[in-house]
Amino acid sequence: MAQSAPLLIRLVASSIIAANRAGKIVLDVMSKGDLGIVEKGKNDLQTEADRAAQRCIIASLSKQYPGVTIIGEEGQSSCNVPPEWIVTDSDEQVLKLNCPEELQSVNESDVVVWVDPLDGTAEYTQGLVEHVTVLIGVAVKERAVAGVIHQPFYNHKGDKVGRTLWGIIGIGVGGFSPKPPPEGKCIVTTTRSHATPVVQAALDSLNPDEVIRVGGAGHKVLLLMEGKAHAYVFASKGCKRWDTCAPEAVLAAMGGKLTDLHGNFYDYSKDTPHENTAGVLATAKASEHDTYLRKIPSDIRQSL
Ligand code: AMP
Ligand code: MG
Ligand code: MG
Repeated sequence: MAQSAPLLIRLVASSIIAANRAGKIVLDVMSKGDLGIVEKGKNDLQTEADRAAQRCIIASLSKQYPGVTIIGEEGQSSCNVPPEWIVTDSDEQVLKLNCPEELQSVNESDVVVWVDPLDGTAEYTQGLVEHVTVLIGVAVKERAVAGVIHQPFYNHKGDKVGRTLWGIIGIGVGGFSPKPPPEGKCIVTTTRSHATPVVQAALDSLNPDEVIRVGGAGHKVLLLMEGKAHAYVFASKGCKRWDTCAPEAVLAAMGGKLTDLHGNFYDYSKDTPHENTAGVLATAKASEHDTYLRKIPSDIRQSL
């Protein structure tokens, strides 16, 4: 049965299971208490959870889809992983979806999977666990077309911990109930740990009613999808393709839009540079994207 579904559908169905397994690793590392923090660069941390979750995802997906290019934040991971980290099940609901015609004949060689095994590492190390997501984005040729966003710590003080959202352009979203942000207001979300004067100037130019400063590109796009913010603005380099591929696709599948600060979509093909050098502008409604773009002064946009 599973083999009869088109590749894109199978890949998303497998990515949901892999993201859930990786999320369990992220929880386990935190509960053991030894985060194994390494400084990759200035203001750029990696923990044992980032490393282990990436190995889990890459080993699980590459075993099932050997011809798909998978690019993970933590570099080349060894596929020599504990057997219990390799998961090859599929989400049954997603497997039943009808694939849009234009994506039905996608081949493994057309696909690049962008993996951020733990988005919001700075916040994870500070105990702000609600900011953490596991991101698996699927690009076909250069475009982000599908994504999985797992929140390992969602409802972590309750009974049923964690949730997984997905989106496929042309199909829609699942795992949550989308909500529009309030009419007649301007609530903007942005970085909490990578602020700069230019980031602040871009925010000021929008004259927002409220600014929500949280960690992680995944978490910020979730705020847009849950109706808590209208726009995500980050006028700086620093975000990478693995931060935005899954969020961009899930947001677009819901009717939103994510681009750089010039209004261009990022290219997610396998030889593209990794850094999102022209910043990030995402809006809950695609129809409002241009309005936000035009409010950001051109000297700020040109500085990126
Ligand atoms: P933030 O909104 O600051 O949580 O950033 C979103 C994503 O981009 C996270 O994965 C960050 O690690 C990454 N990021 C943003 N700015 C930088 C930076 N200056 N250096 C390293 N990573 C960054
Ligand atoms: Mg990240
Ligand atoms: Mg990360």
